[in-house]
Amino acid sequence: MQSELIIKLLNGGERYGLLNQEFDPSSARIDFFCTTEQRSEILDLQEICFIKFLGKPDLADSFSEDEFFEDVTTLTGDRFHLRLKKSGKRVPEGFFGYPVEIDSDFKSIFFTSASLKKRSHDQPLGEVLSQQGLVEESAIDEALTEQQLLRSRRVGEILAEKAAVPQEIVDQAISNVTSNGQKKSKARVGDILIEAKLVTLQQVEEALNEQTSGKRKRIGLILIEKGLITEDQLLTALAQKFGLQVINLDETKISPEALRLIPREMIERMQVVPISLQDTELTVATATPTDPTISENLRFATNCQIKLVCARSTQIGEKIAMLFDKHDSVEDLIDELEDLDVVVDDEPEIDKINESDSKVINLVNKVLLDASNKGISDIHFEPGMGTQPLKIRYRKDGICYTVHKIAATYKAAVISRLKIISKLDIAEHRRPQSGKILLKQAGERIEYRIEITPTVGGQEDAVLRVLASSHIIPLDDLGFSAINLERFKALLHKPYGIILCVGPTGSGKTTSLHSALAEINTPDTKIWTAEDPVEITQEGLRQVQVHPKIGFNFEDALRSFLRADPDVIMIGEMRDPITAKTAIGASLTGHRVFSTLHTNNAPETVVRLIEMGMDPFNFADAMLGILAQRLARRLCNECKEPYHPKRAEYNDLVEAYGTEQFKEDGLPTFSKDLTLMKASGCEECDGQGYSGRIAVHELMVNSVEIKRAIKQNAGVEQITNLAREQGMRNLRMDGIQKIFLGLTDFPQINKVSA
Ligand SMILES: [Zn+2]
Repeated sequence: MQSELIIKLLNGGERYGLLNQEFDPSSARIDFFCTTEQRSEILDLQEICFIKFLGKPDLADSFSEDEFFEDVTTLTGDRFHLRLKKSGKRVPEGFFGYPVEIDSDFKSIFFTSASLKKRSHDQPLGEVLSQQGLVEESAIDEALTEQQLLRSRRVGEILAEKAAVPQEIVDQAISNVTSNGQKKSKARVGDILIEAKLVTLQQVEEALNEQTSGKRKRIGLILIEKGLITEDQLLTALAQKFGLQVINLDETKISPEALRLIPREMIERMQVVPISLQDTELTVATATPTDPTISENLRFATNCQIKLVCARSTQIGEKIAMLFDKHDSVEDLIDELEDLDVVVDDEPEIDKINESDSKVINLVNKVLLDASNKGISDIHFEPGMGTQPLKIRYRKDGICYTVHKIAATYKAAVISRLKIISKLDIAEHRRPQSGKILLKQAGERIEYRIEITPTVGGQEDAVLRVLASSHIIPLDDLGFSAINLERFKALLHKPYGIILCVGPTGSGKTTSLHSALAEINTPDTKIWTAEDPVEITQEGLRQVQVHPKIGFNFEDALRSFLRADPDVIMIGEMRDPITAKTAIGASLTGHRVFSTLHTNNAPETVVRLIEMGMDPFNFADAMLGILAQRLARRLCNECKEPYHPKRAEYNDLVEAYGTEQFKEDGLPTFSKDLTLMKASGCEECDGQGYSGRIAVHELMVNSVEIKRAIKQNAGVEQITNLAREQGMRNLRMDGIQKIFLGLTDFPQINKVSA
């Protein structure tokens, strides 16, 4: 009969047998059927040296980081070369070892704690590493030579660097050597801590002794456990030694881009957290910066340069758990989004609310609120096909990014919920619908405009514009250059005339107009505004929401204002010639009129309006000034880095500005010390290097000469030249000035003023 185990007794005897019940070391005995005696037997582990479980070895393809090699000699004189698992179950009764060779006849072997004569090596460290196949013999020779040159450095340290042997393995090997009392050496971490004056040599040696007496732990961990240092001290010391930054992971945002680069399995195994990606440099947090394999392996896996930063291991563990668990659980997501009291204003009655309904309600409310609190401009709900999750993306500062993925089972419920609170038809799935959502939080109204759009696969997308996220920004904070600010402010105080703000959608025109109105918003001035939608509310203004659908448009509002004793009128947009004519007329009869237009630049606006049928004489007299505007991404104030541009880069900027004008305007001359700023990436900016936006302007102020040109039907070029002579700088020039102020960079300015 075949046996499945061999038991070696401490007295040298052997038993062959089959397990009667599963072997559990903590029971301190083994119950088996002895095949030689043909009867069942129960043996105390105290009598046993080892139990060999026969069968085909279950060998992993490669040596895993969880394992180390060990030579074991038992009291019975048997010798084994084995793999041991660091994370293996530890019991006082003994430990398991696993075969190294593929053709071994056993799966595992259990050594009782009383069985061991020796568990370590008598050989020098280099030999041990070589024998275990961890490093080449030539590498050891090299290390030994170097050791002679640098007596102060130990061979282990050199090896760890040279051969990329995991520090764990080196530590392990060192502890094996030192346990035999042949060599007294400190582990590398010990050296660092002594250098940092955190511990004494004696304390390190004590820790080392403890390390060798069976507990296979990092020396740093032992020092922490003994209460000699805190984890923060250890980290700080390690970080200082390796010139790394220590970060607080609890306050660090993880860039999804970076997260995508490293497979989950690797993140969990290596206990690292990818933080951000800047060009090809990937920032990764680790608690074990001494381990040289981390950078190596990550560089290989991601093809990126790896920049390590230090974080506490507890935080790393928590962050990893959070990163991989959060996306699929709606409950967690609700928990994660701050718990805030919020109600839908004027919520229609719903028949019944069951458990899943309330989950969906909470989820939708909290996403909406979260976005508003974070200054997000748009929320995109994008249901995937079939079982694909529902993706939620935010747009902030003009850039979209994914924030949540919600299980596909919630898709329909979330979209339905959005329809309910915006009073749309929940039975309609094939036509676009638009509406409005009003939330109330702590007495404050938050308004959203919603657009439901049917998409392929019978899905419906919902996109929400957060209307309440806009606030009035003081004119001084709009990012005007000093000269533009002065000239623009002067226009606002003229007794009558029209001021236009122009640019594409999303260039901040309305924000600028409201800032301008705030400047002249005093009790002695009556200000009417007509907007679609009203995105910013201001105390003191009388604001009107136009409804083109019911036939109440800008022109109607304007006519009504003119009968309602205005001083200042703001018209959200001059969409048609009639509105434009009426607005110009109003400005000529003693009112200040503000409006916007979708034109590219200031001189072009003049020509466009004349083409639209405006009377050149009227417009030339009415126009005070035209402000063209764009928003460019602002370099993150927390992390932007100074640098000295190369000559060629400087020349590009000068050329883009116009070489002569550049000199005339007194912009910086080239020198080695000329400093510009460039994007880097930090927690504040989600690793993007940019945070918020700056406005770039082109301000054309009317003058006698420009008036004359308009009346003579001059073209864009002629008006541009005149305006430039009188101090107007175009968007690109204004942007370049802001590059030299370190506010943004050339690529961003190119994007908005190419
Ligand atoms: Zn930053």
